[in-house]
Amino acid sequence: MATILDGKAINQQIIDELQPRIQHLAQTRRPPGLVVILVGNDPGSEIYVGNKVRTCRALGMLSEEIRLPATASTSELLAHIETLNQRPDVDGILVQMPLPKQIDSRAVLLAIRPDKDVDGFHPFNVGQLVANAPAPRPCTPAGIMEMLRRYDISPSGKEAVIVGRSDIVGKPMALLLLHQHATVTICHSKTPDLPAVCRRAGILVAAIGRAGMITADYIKPGAVVIDVGMNRIDNRADAERIAQGTPSKLAAFEKNGTVLVGDVLPAAMAELSSAYTPVPGGVGPLTIAMLMANTVQSAELRLA
Ligand code: NDP
Repeated sequence: MATILDGKAINQQIIDELQPRIQHLAQTRRPPGLVVILVGNDPGSEIYVGNKVRTCRALGMLSEEIRLPATASTSELLAHIETLNQRPDVDGILVQMPLPKQIDSRAVLLAIRPDKDVDGFHPFNVGQLVANAPAPRPCTPAGIMEMLRRYDISPSGKEAVIVGRSDIVGKPMALLLLHQHATVTICHSKTPDLPAVCRRAGILVAAIGRAGMITADYIKPGAVVIDVGMNRIDNRADAERIAQGTPSKLAAFEKNGTVLVGDVLPAAMAELSSAYTPVPGGVGPLTIAMLMANTVQSAELRLA
């Protein structure tokens, strides 16, 4: 019987451990502060930003949201970042991605002070990650490492296969697993015979953005499967294919007309893996916990 890697439970553990550190900072110096910048009104981004701000406030941290119109220019955004870089009460600056096309995303990432870059996307922090030196780590892959650690799943000596090579998930995930002594393969849309490569994996990470693409054919029996994908399905054919063997997913679709699914077929993970992350309730809650952790650590370093 596969272990379900419970992201909500790990999120709660991480938050519980952060709470006294936040209280200590608030009592002795000041609360940690995070400012989130949202450009435009993409509904998905609005939900993510809302969750981040709410979580911060519930923890007693300073949390502000800056909203700019979808027509905002690069220089407008850079001016806000410059102000936040200078503010002594701000420890973390997060610009919600993706940004509208007219904005130079790279210039924006470069403008954030590396020691306030709680997403870990600044090129300096990426370099630190490559060198395995201290720096804020990208939240989603860092959360996955934290989950593996707390479930006593050691990557050391295992073959890890990551499907997806994005800067925010696939690449940093590969480096973090490498630093923990896994033998790492990164796959993408041009990888030949993807199922055969995935079947080598003792740890399989799917970060693709394609609903239910990873089927039983891709999973070695006994593998640990981490499903990063978050895909909202609104057509019945996909919902029925992906929900096979998981009636709760089909029921959710029947009720709402949409359902959130990962990149891996849930029934295949449950049947073949030794442990897996469900969607929702797996990787998602860890991302936000690690954002809080990065912000608290940034405050501790600044106020030490
Ligand atoms: P990107 O779109 O940036 O990257 C997707 C990657 O998947 C690319 O490297 C792409 O390859 C690869 N890919 C696409 N199609 C195939 C295919 N048919 N075969 C093999 N590889 C393929 O996505 P992200 O990394 O930003 O996100 C991935 C997923 O994770 C999304 O569903 C996203 O919503 C989710 N996500 C979830 C988070 C969470 O907190 N749970 C946080 C961040 C993301 P190529 O490079 O060749 O195009």
